[in-house]
Amino acid sequence: MRNTLPLLQAGRRFPAIERQRFETLQMNLGYLCNLSCIHCHVNAGPKRKELMDEATMHLALAVASKHNVATLDLTGGSPEMNPGFRRLVTQAKASGLHVMDRLNPTIIEEPGYEWVANFLADHAVEAVASLPCYSEENVDEQRGNGVFESSIRALQKLNGLGYGKAGSGRVLNLVYNPNGDFLPPPQEKLEQDYRRLLGERFGIEFNALYALANMPIKRFGSWLLSKGRFDDYMQTLEDAHQDANVDNVMCRSLISVDYQGYLYDCDFNQMLGLPAGGRAKLHLRDLLVDDVPRPITVARHCFGCTAGQGSSCGGALL
Ligand code: SF4
Ligand code: SF4
Repeated sequence: MRNTLPLLQAGRRFPAIERQRFETLQMNLGYLCNLSCIHCHVNAGPKRKELMDEATMHLALAVASKHNVATLDLTGGSPEMNPGFRRLVTQAKASGLHVMDRLNPTIIEEPGYEWVANFLADHAVEAVASLPCYSEENVDEQRGNGVFESSIRALQKLNGLGYGKAGSGRVLNLVYNPNGDFLPPPQEKLEQDYRRLLGERFGIEFNALYALANMPIKRFGSWLLSKGRFDDYMQTLEDAHQDANVDNVMCRSLISVDYQGYLYDCDFNQMLGLPAGGRAKLHLRDLLVDDVPRPITVARHCFGCTAGQGSSCGGALL
């Protein structure tokens, strides 16, 4: 895999930004995943071995408590494939945290993971489910054969447990990302299309759609380089940069932690190995005594967060 970091640290500079508050602790529970998507910025897959251990999870909960963090945002890989997932969620909910699970819905159909849907529902975990398109052809091209059909059945199962239904308290948000080196279409219009097409064809309901740009790092970055399209994609991102998005990028209120407990400004910086605060690697342990670092390490990939309508964990920024 080719590393895009040297190219992201050269060229046009992204505006300097600082963290304003610490509301969300985003925990990457490991790089193990049942899929190996082309656009993956983690390079996750079925053969990855890196998984957060329970001692690190315990430390994360202590940090969340000390800093009055409101939300635990669980990501991966497939976070549910970490053997400590259920204990972590149970303890987090018991301590009053809002918990989000960024899942690829096919995990619900994976042998050995039949518990996932009911467990999420029982603990009122917010489900943020990736479904990169409402077209079977596009999803299968990006994620593998049969992924669309499996995702649809999994979303129907979540709906059957109350997810995405008004008044149920069970929130189901979907995540779109482009099937290539172009920007997402306007989120509002896309959400209407998802709602209509998934509703008419499959009876699927959901709360909101988040449209995210692909990041020029890891598997997708390497794909861009191999196709000779890295420079053009960067130009697309930089040309579409909007200053108005800079104030709202997710790193302003979030800390990302890797499977070993080291801290980053976001999951993208984690994958690039750019530590939080831009200096020596900080660890969850440091947050038991210190405040979160204010400076945020930026490079050209940050234009992926501010291009067009903007992209964050919660979708468009504008
Ligand atoms: S994009 Fe998500 S589902 Fe696909 S390989 Fe990466 S972590 Fe797994
Ligand atoms: S890539 Fe990360 S550090 Fe850069 S703007 Fe986006 S969230 Fe912030």
